[in-house]
Amino acid sequence: NAKQAGRDNFKIFELTMARDASDQFNFEQTLRQAIQSAHQFVMFYQPKVNQHRELVGLEALVRLELSPGKFTSPAEFIPVAEESGQIIALEELILRLVFAQLASWHHTYPLTPRVSINLSGIHLLSDTFLPFLNQCMEEFAIPGAWIEFEVTESVFLNDIERCIQVLQVLQGMEIAISIDDFGTGYSSLNYLKNLPVDVLKIDRSFVLECASQKEDAKICSTIIELASTLGLSTIAEGVENHAQFEFLATHGCDNFQGYHFYRPLSVTRIDELLATTLEVSETH
Ligand code: C2E
Ligand code: MG
Ligand code: MG
Ligand code: MG
Repeated sequence: NAKQAGRDNFKIFELTMARDASDQFNFEQTLRQAIQSAHQFVMFYQPKVNQHRELVGLEALVRLELSPGKFTSPAEFIPVAEESGQIIALEELILRLVFAQLASWHHTYPLTPRVSINLSGIHLLSDTFLPFLNQCMEEFAIPGAWIEFEVTESVFLNDIERCIQVLQVLQGMEIAISIDDFGTGYSSLNYLKNLPVDVLKIDRSFVLECASQKEDAKICSTIIELASTLGLSTIAEGVENHAQFEFLATHGCDNFQGYHFYRPLSVTRIDELLATTLEVSETH
């Protein structure tokens, strides 16, 4: 009967909850061990290109390799790291991995483009962020002009004054700042006007149908206009086909990133790319 079914449903619900909670706990432990041992995090890099398809940047994207060749997406473990108080330790590890790589690339290819690193708002606003960053840049001899941070709009909801302060320090160090997934959050135009940022990164959800749907087309062109009004540059993420690229390029979008150009690539593949694309410029 219905009452019985209701009880059974409740039981199933409880069991599912219990399993999710212990799964979550187990995963937090797995993550904790991975951060401690530091060996299972692997960085991939996705190229960014300009309207002429020339390489203008790389985005560092972390993966967790729990068993050889089996990569867990950051979309799964970054939120868990944030909820379980591990995001700062994880991002400090990532910064070290990226800086070591960047030093090595610049040694071989002095024209290596800027590398962007995604940064959690929790980390950006923590007291340890700037001291750690300074120490790490010194240790690996990384000038600010080699790096960029990508932050999402959610960070501005917290402590806007502190946020502006930290971003100003970064700007003073010649580090570039982009607002990731732009358009999906809550940036008020008033904040945007006062924020020391350099790039608006148009979210993939608007890019997806920008060439086929008038609302998304208008949203993309409006973001590009807004950026231009504020003296910022634009990059579109998740560009998967020529129609999207053409639409965005026609409307003045500066840079592009997505499967239509390159997927996130292993270091070996980026090495090959730098060797072939930067070769010409280096002989000048
Ligand atoms: P994001 O910063 O917006 O990164 C873009 C995501 O879109 C990446 O997924 C990338 O692989 C994917 N992508 C790129 N081009 C395309 C495309 O043309 N089509 C489609 N469908 N997807 C595309 P990924 O690597 O799984 O990263 C997911 C998110 O995880 C990132 O979103 C970022 O928020 C976070 N993340 C990645 N690495 C880090 C990190 O080192 N630190 C922090 N805090 N977050 C990270
Ligand atoms: Mg990003
Ligand atoms: Mg993004
Ligand atoms: Mg995104």
